Amino acid sequence: MEHVVIGLFFVFFLLEFLVEFVLNELNMAWVRKRQAENGVPAIFKGRIGVEDYQKSVDYTLAKGRFQRWADLYGRLVTLFVLFGGVLPFLDRVAQNLGGHFAPRTQATGIVFCLATGLLFSTLSLPTDLYATFGLETRFGFNKTTWKLYLADKLKGFFLGIAIGIPFLFAVLWLMEGTGSYWWLWVFLFVFAFQFLLLVLYPILIAPWFNKFEPLKDDELRERILTLADEVGFKTGGIYTMNGSKRSSHSNAYFTGIGKAKRIVLFDTLLEQMSRDQGLAVLAHEMGHYKMKHVRRMLLVQSLFLLGGLYILSLLIDYAPFFHAFGLEPSNYRALVLLGLISGPLTFYLGPLLNLLSRKHEYEADRFAAKVLKDGKPMEEALINLTVRNLSNLTPHPWYSAYHYSHPTTVERND
Ligand SMILES: [Zn+2]
Repeated sequence: MEHVVIGLFFVFFLLEFLVEFVLNELNMAWVRKRQAENGVPAIFKGRIGVEDYQKSVDYTLAKGRFQRWADLYGRLVTLFVLFGGVLPFLDRVAQNLGGHFAPRTQATGIVFCLATGLLFSTLSLPTDLYATFGLETRFGFNKTTWKLYLADKLKGFFLGIAIGIPFLFAVLWLMEGTGSYWWLWVFLFVFAFQFLLLVLYPILIAPWFNKFEPLKDDELRERILTLADEVGFKTGGIYTMNGSKRSSHSNAYFTGIGKAKRIVLFDTLLEQMSRDQGLAVLAHEMGHYKMKHVRRMLLVQSLFLLGGLYILSLLIDYAPFFHAFGLEPSNYRALVLLGLISGPLTFYLGPLLNLLSRKHEYEADRFAAKVLKDGKPMEEALINLTVRNLSNLTPHPWYSAYHYSHPTTVERND
């Protein structure tokens, strides 16, 4: 039976690869063709220079070419780990190491999960390094120094261990101790753990990587607070973040839950936008909360998690599932296998989630236009963001349907 498992895995794995590859090629060809035929799309006329447009096309094509190799490399790495005897080797290491700690089962499981994770992050270094220091540097976005890059990786490693150990311990303990409904208990635990992270992230984790300061621009702050008051949005403060430390790409986000929600603006965003545009971006973000988009997305993701855990509960005693990858059945091995093979299976859910997400974006855009009583600033903010980030002005419709959680700027301003 394990041959059937291996065969099925390859079908899904190769299909995902093929779909990704074709979409990427279509997208690159589409961008070249649009450029040759029409040049700048109508909405961007007069708002993007010929040189910047050329640069955005070059950036899109360079990313597309990089994607070809990065995807191929990533897939070879996955195959190597799954079928190259890596997992059985790591499992033996975990059993030797885990044997020195109590409780033994959980310790072995934790070592196995963390070792697999560490191996993957190490093997992804070549593509990660090239993306940061090759591609992003070439187009003038990268501001990360080698020293900062190394410090980020070390902090990430430390966080992975500090959060991973208690998290995995609890999950493995529940899997062992709660009988046939373990998947329900694990789900409840992961769900609660997410909230804990939502609370801890802005106050403990994020400040370790970036500097956060209360927004200094008094006029903008007053206008944001007035707007928040008007729409009934509770906030725990407005902060700027030194995103320019790593990249000149710009962004804004909300973090935390309940009344402690923080508004975070990248310094790069403040630098690139007028106050009207910045306010429009925040009105849009508030729209996501007021229309319960954030809650709905969390619910959908939770349902996926519950479904995944339930499927795992069906597979956990099915020996061929483990034998196919050179392992014997056990709880912790099931967790790692699910993590490694779920990608090609859930790949097809991506466009569905994006469909919902894009619907939310339109709604939030309309919300912003309504509360500001003017749709212009939002439109200008979007165009500004697209131009500054050298985003693809004309993605292939299939490519954007698959990969874009946001509608394109052209679509949003129709
Ligand atoms: Zn949005």
